[in-house]
Amino acid sequence: MTEAWGPDDDEPRPHSGPVRVRVPAKINLHLGVGPLRPDGYHELNTVYHAISLFDEITARHGDTLTLTMEGEGTGELALDETNLIIRAARALAARARVPAYARLHLRKSIPLAGGLAGGSADAAATLIACDLLWGLGLGRDELADVGAQLGSDVPFLLYGGTALGTGHGEAVSPILARPTTWHWVVAIADGGLSTPAVYRELDTLRDSSWPPAPLDSADRLMAALRQRDPEVLAAALGNDLQPAALALRPQLADVLKAGTEAGALTGLVSGSGPTCVFLAATAAHAQEIAGRLTAAGVCRAAVTARGPQPGARVI
Ligand code: ATP
Repeated sequence: MTEAWGPDDDEPRPHSGPVRVRVPAKINLHLGVGPLRPDGYHELNTVYHAISLFDEITARHGDTLTLTMEGEGTGELALDETNLIIRAARALAARARVPAYARLHLRKSIPLAGGLAGGSADAAATLIACDLLWGLGLGRDELADVGAQLGSDVPFLLYGGTALGTGHGEAVSPILARPTTWHWVVAIADGGLSTPAVYRELDTLRDSSWPPAPLDSADRLMAALRQRDPEVLAAALGNDLQPAALALRPQLADVLKAGTEAGALTGLVSGSGPTCVFLAATAAHAQEIAGRLTAAGVCRAAVTARGPQPGARVI
């Protein structure tokens, strides 16, 4: 059987497997960070954007829950219950009251702890893969509800595209703009940055300022997106976490400088960093910038990417 749904009824049925799901990385075109809330989260107003750097999860039936991994940074990643893939499979099984039995395999290309939400992407892909493998038939909204408990970025990575994120990032609404492809250069750093450490650094930097920093709304960025002009978008991009990432990793200033010297319209730290992203006018322009950045030797690798991309989906 290769179809999850039989022709004569609407009842979802288990898939014979394997199920392969591809999931994009995210960048934040705008990342407004408000004050720390009593629940330990910061209030966010962000514009997520999915780009063409992908991880892939393959799910097969098994007698227990197992995980194997290959690719970018997986040597540093635990295979145990702390792995977001295992956590996602268990959370879904608990929600649906089914046994969490699957053999999962990760092929990773999204750099670890890079500010590209690779772990959340893997969790989103696992939810889609296991939902189909186990024949649960949960909709994306219900999967997003399970995903929000695993990480703030998981719901967005189920939907993809370009979307507004509020709350602590888990409340996602798509931004309806006429389709436009944006061209990016992604400068991958050596080593990662811890997201909680970057937020703590931001709190320290802000501690002495009074009144507390207000939450910067995404309105200007959303208006810029509607104009479909890369120069206009470049002027509206922004990330409140950037000063904190630069304080923890001062070399990122050299990366940002090298990117603009290489001709990028602008550059910014992606999320909590240390990945930096640069906006280009065209695909050819992005290629040229990536080549120059690589030659400048300021990052481990510079690759081109396009956005927006769909969220986690079966391939
Ligand atoms: P954030 O979503 O916080 O911006 P990030 O993009 O900076 O995260 P991730 O690659 O998502 O970084 O990893 C953050 C941490 O999550 C890692 O350091 C690792 O300890 C943990 N983690 C658990 N499972 C995974 C996974 N499958 N892939 C990547 N990281 C994972």
